[in-house]
Amino acid sequence: MDIIENYGILASMSWNSNKWAGEPSKEDLNRSKYGYVQDESHAHESLNFGHEIFPPEEDGYYIGYTPMLRKAPAPDKSGSVKIIFLCSSDYKNSNRKLILGFYGNPEFGQNFPRQAKHRLYRKYDGGNIRAYPSDIIHLENPLLISNDIVAKNNLLPKDKKISQRGFNYLNSDNVYNLISVALTQNPNNTKLRAFVEKFPALVDYINQKSNVEDYFDVIKGYSADNLKDIAVLERKMAKQTPEVKQRISTYIERGAIAAKVKKLTGYRCLICESLNLNPISFKKPNGEYYVETHHVEPVSSMKNGVLSMDNLITVCANHHRQLHYGDSTLIGQTDHHFVFKIDGKKIDINKISLH
Ligand SMILES: [Zn+2]
Ligand SMILES: [Zn+2]
Repeated sequence: MDIIENYGILASMSWNSNKWAGEPSKEDLNRSKYGYVQDESHAHESLNFGHEIFPPEEDGYYIGYTPMLRKAPAPDKSGSVKIIFLCSSDYKNSNRKLILGFYGNPEFGQNFPRQAKHRLYRKYDGGNIRAYPSDIIHLENPLLISNDIVAKNNLLPKDKKISQRGFNYLNSDNVYNLISVALTQNPNNTKLRAFVEKFPALVDYINQKSNVEDYFDVIKGYSADNLKDIAVLERKMAKQTPEVKQRISTYIERGAIAAKVKKLTGYRCLICESLNLNPISFKKPNGEYYVETHHVEPVSSMKNGVLSMDNLITVCANHHRQLHYGDSTLIGQTDHHFVFKIDGKKIDINKISLH
């Protein structure tokens, strides 16, 4: 996928003990790192995530503010910006930096006066970013960021550091990665999910991405070498992306259950055998013959028992690839047989069982 530069902006704002849905505390104002907030005892960003409480403008927009965009960014650079992430340093918590949410499909680069009616709008009379309330997402579980985290997870363009005195441009990969993390950490945020659905490229990215962290999260503490653990893994992976499911399936295909299955079939490729070809591959240094295991019913289907032993068959490396990437379909099965069609040929294989 092509990377789009300047696809997003990361901008900071003063801390607000009322979650940016109400007035800041006295201490918030005193501790702000923006001098004018202290001087004026006023933070324009105080209502940034009050979009569920306070009225939008007549044109449907809700207005927010970030001190970082007080000076409008160059229009030729910011024309492709689709999202503005808002972060702040939590002074009560050793100044850790958190992304609290974002404005999707934003407008910015000018001052927007608040004209809707609300008592607080007299004091908070305008801002410099705006978006539709449905595209403004507040994260109950904010995302912790640091230069270290950002570098490790491709959350900023290469070699960039989090800006202290301005804002950062983000490329599309950075934006997608941030949203993936936001989804992982806020699984029940239906507004966030709905927002993601509106960006097909983002949905693709999230699905294709090797979500290594989710994978390790699922397998943590569970080995693939006993049926009890495998049953747990099967339950835990139900909610995972197809990519993660695929990784878990590989984990199990390589696990000790797989080792038992290999022993049971005598390290033979069951497809080769059914084609009257030599079913035995090369010998490994440990004296065992090389063979691979494969889940017949794809793990991503999440059908019951998909991780159980009788959904595994042993195949040679070549047939394993063909099952995944070649012209092969499972055309039927009984309690004891799988019937495949591979390259137009019908192939009947006995299911593996302990008995
Ligand atoms: Zn084979
Ligand atoms: Zn496989």
